[in-house]
Amino acid sequence: MTRLIRARIDSAALRANLQAIRARAPRSRVMAVVKANAYGHGLVPAALALADADAFAVARLEEAVALREAGLKRRIVLLEGVLDATQLAQAAALELDLVVHQLEQIELLEQFRGARPFPLWLKVDTGMNRLGFRPQDFRAAWERLRNLKPAPQQLRVLTHLACADDADGGYTAEQLARLRPLVAGLEVELSIANSAAILAQPSTHAAWVRPGLALYGVSPFAAQRGAQLGLRPAMTLESTVIALREVAPGERAGYGGVWRAQRPSRLAIVAAGYGDGLPRSIPDGAPVLIGGRRAPLAGHVSMDMIAVDITDLPPVTVGDRVELWGAHLPVEELAAAAGTIAYELLCAVSQRVPIELV
Ligand SMILES: *Cc1c(COP(=O)(O)O)cnc(C)c1O
Repeated sequence: MTRLIRARIDSAALRANLQAIRARAPRSRVMAVVKANAYGHGLVPAALALADADAFAVARLEEAVALREAGLKRRIVLLEGVLDATQLAQAAALELDLVVHQLEQIELLEQFRGARPFPLWLKVDTGMNRLGFRPQDFRAAWERLRNLKPAPQQLRVLTHLACADDADGGYTAEQLARLRPLVAGLEVELSIANSAAILAQPSTHAAWVRPGLALYGVSPFAAQRGAQLGLRPAMTLESTVIALREVAPGERAGYGGVWRAQRPSRLAIVAAGYGDGLPRSIPDGAPVLIGGRRAPLAGHVSMDMIAVDITDLPPVTVGDRVELWGAHLPVEELAAAAGTIAYELLCAVSQRVPIELV
């Protein structure tokens, strides 16, 4: 079958990015964050390409199920932990590591009668105000977890940074200052750093780093692209020219007639739309690559198609390949044009877009 649109995932790029992260944080183990379908890259294919990671992190139990069903034996950390006893039993069956971020989870663990003690990650909220124990409640939580019967296999501590991509690092310093006294004197492995902190704040590296975006070759910083950080974009979202048309000056194109020909123009119609995850907020004029050359989007993204103004391009034919973002057109650039972040564009790639691992 001829595929019109596909997300090509470069497994060599994934592996190279993992190596680049190891080089940046040489004393840390790497927990590869593969939540949200590996940021749109395909959970199982991405995890298999990253099989050398020391552990994997997912947000939801279903994601861990998929990884275990695919045969992944490595440590898998459930970042949001479990909600009830049913989930706890499932997590035990899957041999997961659990994040413990609230009292109810400690109570579930105290009542649990499984044979295998869980490896646990006690999450402390140092300023994100999303998940985690408040600093003043940390010690009590730590003691209760240490006293579980059977005792936890390992008890580690994790926190999450809210502003690791800020150049000044002030809020990160505050978060670290809240963490430090809590763990002073404890023999414990810590995990603090996401991609931005791995790349910009070596003091956060600790025993375990937790890269997500950087593994996929994309920059977490507004002012830089992945390539400038020594990363290789792993996803190229590509599609196909399915029709061509010539329009006279003054003619409009697309919904709302937003785009209007200023001169005799040629449009390429490309099979890619918001039904594929291309947000409608990508503005008229945003770049699209056809035959390796940039051409402006003409008008709004529709559900299954976009129009591209190819008037200034050498001849384009039906069937030509189009790059929406990836190896030659940074997703960071599209995200900035659309007023969003690369994370959202990657995660939005929809189910109907097949993933091709190369
Ligand atoms: C998503 C997530 C990460 C990875 O963040 P990136 O910015 O993609 O590197 C790390 N830790 C936690 C707790 C997360 O939820």
